[in-house]
Amino acid sequence: MKLLEERILKDGIALNENVLKVDSFLNHQVDVNLMDKIGDEFYSLFKNKNIDKVITIEASGIAPAYATAIKLNVPLVILKKNQSNILNSNLYTTVVHSFTKNIDYNITCSQKFLLPNENILFIDDFLANGEAVLGAYRLCKMANCNLVGVGIVIEKSFQPGRKKLENLKLNIHSLARIEKLSKGEIIFK
Ligand code: 5GP
Repeated sequence: MKLLEERILKDGIALNENVLKVDSFLNHQVDVNLMDKIGDEFYSLFKNKNIDKVITIEASGIAPAYATAIKLNVPLVILKKNQSNILNSNLYTTVVHSFTKNIDYNITCSQKFLLPNENILFIDDFLANGEAVLGAYRLCKMANCNLVGVGIVIEKSFQPGRKKLENLKLNIHSLARIEKLSKGEIIFK
C-alpha cells in the first residue's frame, strides 16, 4: 500500500535492525484518515471471505481492526491480554510470547464472542515472529471457528513470522513488507 509505505518512510523510526517505531500514526497517536484507508484496503482484500467477525489483540491492533470491521460491517472482538482465567472458566486462553517486550502473556477471549463455524479475520499492526497470529489461530481452533484471513499492517519479512505461518496455509496479507531495517534506514520488499 503506497500511502502506508510513504508514511512509514516519512514518520517511521528504525530504532535498530529489528524494531520499527511508528508511534506517531499507528501505535500511540493514530492517524484516523490513514486507518480509514487501511480499512478500505483490508475490506477489498477480504470482502469475499464471508467474514463474521474481526478479531485483534489489545492494544495496538485495535485501530486498524476497527477500521476494517466497520467497512465489513461486522463486530470487532478484542482479545484481552493478561486476564486471569482462574476466576472465569468461560474464557479461551493461550500463551503468547511478546517480541517487543520479551515476555510471555495470556491472550483471552470470552467463549460467547467466538462461536463455532464463524469465519474470523485477524488484524494486527505488526508481523514479526508470528507469535500473535499463532495465538489467535489457537484460540480460533479452541472455539471451532475458522481463521479465514490474517491482515497485517506492517510485516517485517526478514523476521521468522511469515515463514513460521506458511505451514498453516493461512490467507495472510500485509500492507507493507519490510525487507531490511537498520538505524535510520527502512527498505521495502
Ligand atoms: P509477533 O507476535 O509477530 O512476534 O509480533 C507481533 C506483535 O509485536 C505486534 O502485535 C506488535 O505489537 C509487536 N511488534 C513486533 N515488532 C514490532 C516493531 O518493530 N515495532 C512495533 N511498534 N511493534 C512491534
